[in-house]
Amino acid sequence: MNNCLVEIRDLHVEYKTDKGVLGGTQIIHAVNGVNLEIKKGEILAIAGESGCGKSTLAKTIIRLENPIKGEIIFKNNDLLKMTLKELKDFRKNIQMIFQNPYASLNPKMKIYDTLKEPLKINTNLSDNEIKKIIEDTSCKVGLDKECLSLYPHEFSGGQRQRIAIARALVLNPEFILADEPVSALDVSIQAQIINLLKDLNKEYNLTFLLITHDMSVIKYLADRVAIMYLGEIIEIGTVNEIFNSPKHPYTKALLSAVPEINKNKEKILLQGELPSPANLPDGCKFHTRCPQAMMKCKNNIPENIDLSTSHCVKCFLYN
Ligand code: SF4
Repeated sequence: MNNCLVEIRDLHVEYKTDKGVLGGTQIIHAVNGVNLEIKKGEILAIAGESGCGKSTLAKTIIRLENPIKGEIIFKNNDLLKMTLKELKDFRKNIQMIFQNPYASLNPKMKIYDTLKEPLKINTNLSDNEIKKIIEDTSCKVGLDKECLSLYPHEFSGGQRQRIAIARALVLNPEFILADEPVSALDVSIQAQIINLLKDLNKEYNLTFLLITHDMSVIKYLADRVAIMYLGEIIEIGTVNEIFNSPKHPYTKALLSAVPEINKNKEKILLQGELPSPANLPDGCKFHTRCPQAMMKCKNNIPENIDLSTSHCVKCFLYN
């Protein structure tokens, strides 16, 4: 893909955890063979239930987690093969906005110092140059200059998330990972932050990977959506394709649970709980809950089927 900024190939992430009172350890298969291309200037959303592996995927891209296998290509460089020095340079280009603006800001630092810290660590800019960047970035996210001399506790949740977004922007990154960026905010504030992210995407051609369980946020903000289930991407397409013509039974169930999207239609109730990523089902990983499961789904793994140049689904119903 010509305008591809990030390409993820066959990514696998596992953890070892204690089994607790049972003794011994177990392996959690958090991400299982993810392939993904993120185009420059787009907002790609990753959706799925809690525990589906979407946050682990984001943390692995920013190298907060180490995969056991795979490639993460950013502008033709494999992040998993970089030296520490190369990784430090790369980190300027990719920044993360976390879910909770209450926890992600240091309560003892004034906002100016919070925004100055990444510039001091990652650049050799003079104090005057840093001051100009901080003031310009604050303006971009809708914060007054006066805010810079205050502490985080003096702000509302929405303003704190603006500060967290400013901190992600001061290094002028090309790629932002936003992990549930509005889910900790009051509903009344969410729209402001969603609009701010959309404006930043359009005005500065910033590329976003948006991680969220909120399908309404995705519908408004994203260009494309990837649906994750038990560490796999089971359907991907444009917002129009996924919301107006979902194909995978899991995507249909996920959308049917959102009242604003599923107006006047029946909710699809899935049987059972999400299986443990320590004990993945054989065959199609969704077969234990799928209302349309067939015999072959139990022991055979479906391939990705291209439905259009942008829409792809992993399900035997479309073979
Ligand atoms: Fe359901 Fe089978 Fe499709 Fe899996 S492959 S989603 S079990 S129909």
